[in-house]
Amino acid sequence: MESVDLVRSSLRGELQTSDIQYLYDQVDTPTLSEIAARITEEVSGNRVSFVSNLILNYTNICNVRCNFCAFYRTGKESDSYTFSIDRVLEEIEKYYDKYGITQLLIQGGVNPSLDLDYYLSLFRRIKDEFPRIGINGLSTSEISFIARKARLSVEDLLKQLRSSGLETIPGAGAEIFHKDVRKILGRPPGSELEWLSVMETAHRIGIKTTSTMMFGHVENSYHRADHLFRILELQKKYHGFLSFTPWNFEPGKTKLEAQGLTKYRSGGDDVIRNIAISRIAFGKELPVVQSSWLTNGIQMGQLSILSGANDWGGTIYDEKVIPATGKDVGNLAKDFIINALKDIGKIPVERDNLYRTVKVY
Ligand code: SF4
Repeated sequence: MESVDLVRSSLRGELQTSDIQYLYDQVDTPTLSEIAARITEEVSGNRVSFVSNLILNYTNICNVRCNFCAFYRTGKESDSYTFSIDRVLEEIEKYYDKYGITQLLIQGGVNPSLDLDYYLSLFRRIKDEFPRIGINGLSTSEISFIARKARLSVEDLLKQLRSSGLETIPGAGAEIFHKDVRKILGRPPGSELEWLSVMETAHRIGIKTTSTMMFGHVENSYHRADHLFRILELQKKYHGFLSFTPWNFEPGKTKLEAQGLTKYRSGGDDVIRNIAISRIAFGKELPVVQSSWLTNGIQMGQLSILSGANDWGGTIYDEKVIPATGKDVGNLAKDFIINALKDIGKIPVERDNLYRTVKVY
């Protein structure tokens, strides 16, 4: 396909799995970046958004035990933890005013000792004490488990969580949808359908979510293309995804690394290709593609922005999931993001949890 036709098809959301796989297999990185940058220009011009975000992992106890996860504990280890509601509030208090936090990304393991009341009270108290915060909370695995435990349908659970203050749902847990890959990743059978179904239910009742893909482990180009296409298909139904983030797998201290299945993380070229191909696959249908600077650093974040991403993601203070793999991500305050974006000629736009403009810098 000529690049002009590709741009046209992309903007109309017409690409198929085979077209996306072709991009992975046959098109060089500079060409992908250039096409993706042209599409981004059409979608959002020179503006790049970011959010004043706090990540809070309220428990690391999880009964799913994925092979790619270095974060979870079974509950027997000395560093297993579960925060009380008061402890969660104390953590937020440390950052709320100091950094002008507007989004709380709160997620943890699938912890069988917590029940629905914990989550309802947690969200209610967060909203009471920190009204500016938009709660972006719980993975689809946590949501499915809480629903089963409370004997509620996912729809009824989501309605209760929303009444208590949950605003949006993060896209964690998507990994790669194809069942052959998920089997090696140690994801429970059918978990890809569970992810899609929880997201579809949320979108249908008006709860917006984000979406992700974790690449750079045991998948191939077909699996990646299939993943992007399935996200695109769901997006066309309700336009409930606010953004898409492709992020590269960190193998450190995981079972996949111990089994020799993935020894090294993806290099910069693969990161850029995934950003660019996501942008080309989604066009205007899913207008926000987020750079995964968290695992790749500020410089790769800038290159991602120049290759199709138009959202930086958020500030980071004391993140715990990535450091569990042995990789130090440090903290990233707002000023550094604004500077990194201006440095490459972009207009930084602070947004809220729902991607509404808070301030243009
Ligand atoms: S990825 Fe999530 S569900 Fe899987 S073991 Fe880690 S915390 Fe649990």
